[in-house]
Amino acid sequence: MPSFMEPFRIKAVEPIPFPSPDERHEALAIAGYNLFRVPARKITIDLLTDSGTAAMSAAQWAALMAGDESYAGANSFERFESVLRELTGFSEILPVHQGRAAERIVLGQLLGLGDISVSNTHFDSTRASVEAADAEALDLPVPSYAGILNPFGGDLDLDALAELLDGNSGSRVKCVVLTITNNANGGQPVSLLNIAGARRLCDRHGIPLFLDASRFAENAYLITQREAGYADSTPHEIARTMFDLADGCWASLKKDGLANIGGLIALRDAALASRCAEQVIAFEGFPTYGGLAGRDLEALAQGLLEVLEPEYLRYRAESARWFGEQLELAGLPVLQPTGCHAVYVDAGLLLEHVAPQALPATAFANELYLTGGIRVSELGTLVFGKPGHDGGPDLPAPRELVRFALPRRVYTASHLEYVVDVAEVVASKAAQLRGYRILRQGGAMRQFTAVLEPA
Ligand SMILES: *Cc1c(COP(=O)(O)O)cnc(C)c1O
Repeated sequence: MPSFMEPFRIKAVEPIPFPSPDERHEALAIAGYNLFRVPARKITIDLLTDSGTAAMSAAQWAALMAGDESYAGANSFERFESVLRELTGFSEILPVHQGRAAERIVLGQLLGLGDISVSNTHFDSTRASVEAADAEALDLPVPSYAGILNPFGGDLDLDALAELLDGNSGSRVKCVVLTITNNANGGQPVSLLNIAGARRLCDRHGIPLFLDASRFAENAYLITQREAGYADSTPHEIARTMFDLADGCWASLKKDGLANIGGLIALRDAALASRCAEQVIAFEGFPTYGGLAGRDLEALAQGLLEVLEPEYLRYRAESARWFGEQLELAGLPVLQPTGCHAVYVDAGLLLEHVAPQALPATAFANELYLTGGIRVSELGTLVFGKPGHDGGPDLPAPRELVRFALPRRVYTASHLEYVVDVAEVVASKAAQLRGYRILRQGGAMRQFTAVLEPA
């Protein structure tokens, strides 16, 4: 029995597809053995991503009808702005269509040729925006020690940052970005202690501190659970404390916005905000809608209130913890401690006989689909490896991870029990699984389009 209960009941339902084993084999072959290319109608349980996949509440669906679609100064913008001003304390609020637009615009204003952006870990689209500004994205995550559970594995390595800032390259650092939670690093939270430490170093060197706040509510909740002294604080209070320590933030609201589309730029500096607003006009739309419909702004304003409800966040963290525990009991090597938005499994440990160049994480993910119609994402050599020089073998990723992402409020514990059952079957035959060969691939982000064949 799970140790938690979904804090909602279900009012609208959507049937899920049950393709037969033959249909799954055919669908995967047609997709070039790449789960991104399999149509959703062939997927039984879709744990590919937690981005834009949330179920909206009755209050959000009701808010859609109140959407004001005026081009300029819509009521819906005013509601969005007032919720975000109250939540973040930032005065300058600019909606955009999704997170990467916000990153491209803010980082494009902060960075130029030869500059450095430092982060606990730049998310892949963030890194792309830094590099598009001809700057360098430097990741300084806290070191991890085998066998030691770090409750704040998402932290920035403050000693390494201090050393960098005091060194020859210090003057090239133009911003520090804390990704909360640290998506690329197992979805681990960042502590308030760490954010405050980064703030002090930034102040000493006159550098702005930004939050990539896509999962701000999950980070805030994990602080109440894991950081000494905050057990009695609400996630709302912690979120405000995090924002108070920063000069601004951007976010993909497709995560903790509890809606299906949206992004945000929120700043204190009015001059920087007006330069960003010019870019929003050029690339997104008038600054009071930023590429979104009025109804999207309404759904987001409501979602941003709901996401901080302690009962919701407790369920979110507890379901991930329980799911991780069950997968571990089923024989899968699970990264611990679990965060909120996903559970990560080290497929490299199960498929030691498959070389990284033969994509063991892909082999494991594809077998989950073939066995039970489950779609997860591979975060191994297909995503983080690099094509070798002159057509040589791939340079492998550090780990062959598979991510079971958890869409918000979408699947119940019994859906996850089904996933655990399928994962157990796959883990038990891991020694017989074979790898894949890349037939065709694009450049950056090759995982989205690559075509593979069984090795
Ligand atoms: C999803 C995400 C982004 C990019 O946002 P999109 O809405 O997908 O463009 C940026 N940073 C983090 C941490 C994310 O999780």
